[in-house]
Amino acid sequence: MASLSLKNVRKVYPNGFVAVNDFNLDIEDKEFVIFVGPSGCGKSTTLRMIAGLEEISDGELWIGDKLCNDIEPKDRDIAMVFQNYALYPHMTVYDNMAFGLKLRKTPKAEIDRRVQEAAKILSIESLLDRRPKALSGGQRQRVAMGRAIVREPKVFLMDEPLSNLDAKLRVQMRVEISKLHQRLQTTIIYVTHDQVEAMTLGTRIVVMKDGFIQQVDTPSNLYERP
Ligand code: ADP
Ligand code: ADP
Repeated sequence: MASLSLKNVRKVYPNGFVAVNDFNLDIEDKEFVIFVGPSGCGKSTTLRMIAGLEEISDGELWIGDKLCNDIEPKDRDIAMVFQNYALYPHMTVYDNMAFGLKLRKTPKAEIDRRVQEAAKILSIESLLDRRPKALSGGQRQRVAMGRAIVREPKVFLMDEPLSNLDAKLRVQMRVEISKLHQRLQTTIIYVTHDQVEAMTLGTRIVVMKDGFIQQVDTPSNLYERP
């Protein structure tokens, strides 16, 4: 069974603009799938439909064996990491990471176990009492990832998670995301317009253009053909 399937998915915004068209994709467990393509081609819209932040106009979204078109975001077995981190400024790192679990009524001891474990994986154990404004950009990005990891979702969605970091940190975090993928043995869907990120991270690359899938292939077939 595929981890996630999109069947004939289409997005028409209220103004009539068709942002995603005829989108068909099956993603298997543990794949690292990259959406690439020029700005405006529909990458974020597709990710947001999977997350439930944007309504699906037509077609079907399956997560595992569950048809998810009408399932609330918090009840989908996914977690999303945003480009702008979206941390709560008034909460500590610990509470930022715990928030999504509290919302879902996870028992306190279980929340604590998961936050400590994620903090260890991301090397942010010493930052748990700080507030976001006392963190560097790279640290904030780790917290944003921690918030997704504690959910232990079936699928991670990442929308240009590294684009606000400087070049050096971007390379470092890219390596860490790759390790994270191996360590968590999870499915990741990752949006980027950075070809190096796509090549080094992806097990499969979906090239989009004008709302359509133009090509789906492995990085080596797409970029390293003689
Ligand atoms: P990408 O992530 O590939 O840059 P997006 O998915 O953000 O592309 O956007 C796809 C297209 O949909 C763009 O042309 C964008 O202007 C348009 N779009 C995005 N949001 C809306 C909206 N709320 N209403 C109308 N058009 C939108
Ligand atoms: P999840 O565990 O589902 O990722 P979040 O903690 O990210 O939950 O968010 C829970 C709710 O709070 C969502 O409806 C989300 O849109 C909203 N939210 C997330 N970050 C912020 C923020 N920085 N400010 C205001 N609302 C937010």
